[in-house]
Amino acid sequence: DAAGLVVSFGEMLIDFVPTVSGVSLAEAPGFLKAPGGAPANVAIAVARLGGRCAFLGKLGDDEFGRMLAAILRDNGVDDSGVTFDAGARTALAFVTLRADGEREFMFYRNPSADMLLTEAELNLDLIRKAKVFHYGSISLITEPCRSAHLKAMEVAKEAGALLSYDPNLRLPLWPSAAEAREQILSIWDAADIIKVSDVELEFLTDTDSVEDEVAMRLWRPSLKLLLVTLGEKGCKYYTKDFHGSVESFAVKQVDTTGAGDAFVGALLGKFVEDQSALQDEKKLRELLRFSNACGAITTTKKGAIPSLPNVSEAMRLMER
Ligand code: ADP
Repeated sequence: DAAGLVVSFGEMLIDFVPTVSGVSLAEAPGFLKAPGGAPANVAIAVARLGGRCAFLGKLGDDEFGRMLAAILRDNGVDDSGVTFDAGARTALAFVTLRADGEREFMFYRNPSADMLLTEAELNLDLIRKAKVFHYGSISLITEPCRSAHLKAMEVAKEAGALLSYDPNLRLPLWPSAAEAREQILSIWDAADIIKVSDVELEFLTDTDSVEDEVAMRLWRPSLKLLLVTLGEKGCKYYTKDFHGSVESFAVKQVDTTGAGDAFVGALLGKFVEDQSALQDEKKLRELLRFSNACGAITTTKKGAIPSLPNVSEAMRLMER
């Protein structure tokens, strides 16, 4: 039965996180392996909340790729859209927050398997089953993955899926800031739902403000919902008929990695069942309260995937 499937498209990788914070990558005594990649996090977020979800992307036919595919399956995510590249290796990222407050990144992507997904390798049957099709923008940076990404969007749209876009800016991956802005905005009009963080809103509009007037510059008549996440302050929402904000919940924040993905996953899992919240502000606010709770919980533990909540954890926070 094809009812209610979220298909999440893009990269899945391993973040190597220093076991000690506040040091440079060269000084790190060791690293923890943290599976990640925003589209994969979203897929697992949906599944952990009880929704049906498939991940579509490419991994290396290596130890890390097999580990990531197993993580998808163990979390109840359909991996029939995952392909393995015999030659290239799984993407790896080394990320640290140095003592001077600067983030330091190092990527194994020259090229990594995710960047080599081709149009011909897309599982079109799976895409056509999507009620909601979600994607980011990292997969737009280079060919052949870029063409595969655009084709997947087209097929999903033709099949009547709701298209959900989280640009998930990781600036160091792009050739330049100007190119990132241009490419991210180049697929803006195709989406039904777009979620940006406050940082992305400022970057995309080249401002230092998250005021409504600035957010409205990212509005398009083709959109059904624009969301701006504001960390501990919750989120703002804009539709053609109404806009407002919903506060989040007080939690003890440990690591924000994956909060935005949990927020999106919570929302998309619900849209698969019922999209009436797009026209009904009261319903939308209820839904965003749930999404905020899921985002908030994700900040209370280290890493993205280990901290994504299930429904009872979300309910407990909402009833507190
Ligand atoms: P991103 O991970 O994309 O940067 P945010 O950090 O804005 O996104 O977090 C996404 C959502 O998670 C927020 O809209 C909010 O609902 C929730 N959230 C994040 N950080 C906190 C926090 N410290 N306290 C409560 N809720 C939070």
